[in-house]
Amino acid sequence: RKLGVALVGLGNYSTGQLAPALQQTKYCQLAGVVTGSPAKAAQWQKQYGIPAKNCYDYQTFDRIIDNPAIDIVYVVLPNALHAEYVVRAAQAGKHVICEKPMATSVADARRMIAAMQKAGKKFSVGYRLHFEPHNQAMMRLGQTQAYGKITHLAADNGFRFGSGGTPWRLNKKLSGGGPLMDMGIYCLQGCLYTKGQVPVSVTAKFTPETGTGIFKEVEAGLNWQLRFADGSVADCRTSYTENVSRLRAETANGWFELEPAFGYGGLAGRTSKNDGLLNLPNINQQAAQLDDFAQCVLLNKPTRVPGEMGLRDVQLLEAIYRAAETGQSAATTDVVQLIDRV
Ligand code: NAD
Repeated sequence: RKLGVALVGLGNYSTGQLAPALQQTKYCQLAGVVTGSPAKAAQWQKQYGIPAKNCYDYQTFDRIIDNPAIDIVYVVLPNALHAEYVVRAAQAGKHVICEKPMATSVADARRMIAAMQKAGKKFSVGYRLHFEPHNQAMMRLGQTQAYGKITHLAADNGFRFGSGGTPWRLNKKLSGGGPLMDMGIYCLQGCLYTKGQVPVSVTAKFTPETGTGIFKEVEAGLNWQLRFADGSVADCRTSYTENVSRLRAETANGWFELEPAFGYGGLAGRTSKNDGLLNLPNINQQAAQLDDFAQCVLLNKPTRVPGEMGLRDVQLLEAIYRAAETGQSAATTDVVQLIDRV
């Protein structure tokens, strides 16, 4: 049988991306939901043929421990709620996927990893781009130095908040921060997997709209620079005031880039050699990510995007905020040294 997945939180991402992807997966399927809305539970039961016994609310969620039809719990809640639901899923003995950013503090991220270790179950972060052909090619071209050593990276990711953000994203308690937590994390990830290294320090600056208008609690945008041990840097930019999506590497012998780089589809790439190495198909990223995790469970293999990678990124996000708040360079040598190697 296919492994059963329960989605926790039926907002935009579950509704628009994960549930449709789970209709295309080979090794897992949508088997349950956890929602605070009885109307949504009824609607999902009807639309996806989910039995009522596999539907929970946030109070009854812990009873999932007694439900053998649910193998994997996928936490798709506002960022600050990830920790509580991952720990509860661990205590219920389930394998877990947690959306990005994994947590809103390093302390929470560590607590989540410890709970999953104690449960002895698989734990991964919803890093869909590690299963996406264009981004996998960026890893390969960068890490194998196909065009020579990377001398500079640039990564931008943002959207105009008015065109699609939900309100909790502007509430610091629920989001942990603004576009850096939401969109900038892709720039960070992209630079690390393309360079194949974890940076040694970071400097950062909030954009001038921060503190104005709707951006009272969280930043409107942030520009930051990662420095690697070899002296090369990555210039990154994230924002809730601009639509941008780009990842570019300058190398000893040329360059290669994706634009758009980080969305669900329509990604496109090019290289200085015009060799077609980034002319690749767009796939259903979520289906690929979900099937990879299901295979990790079925074959007892390690995931490429484990909780430790989520912790690494939360450590780096905290360092970026620290650098922006103090105006000083923040060392990042003490973060988890983990890279998705090609
Ligand atoms: P959303 O606002 O559309 O959905 C959030 C859901 O959580 C809603 O159904 C809401 O009812 C529910 N919820 C439960 N308790 C809540 C509370 N106390 N306050 C507010 N909402 C509460 O958000 P989304 O876009 O689906 O994002 C959910 C998570 O998924 C976030 O962590 C986000 O970063 C992540 N996400 C990841 C991707 C990706 O590409 N991997 C894309 C979008 C979102």
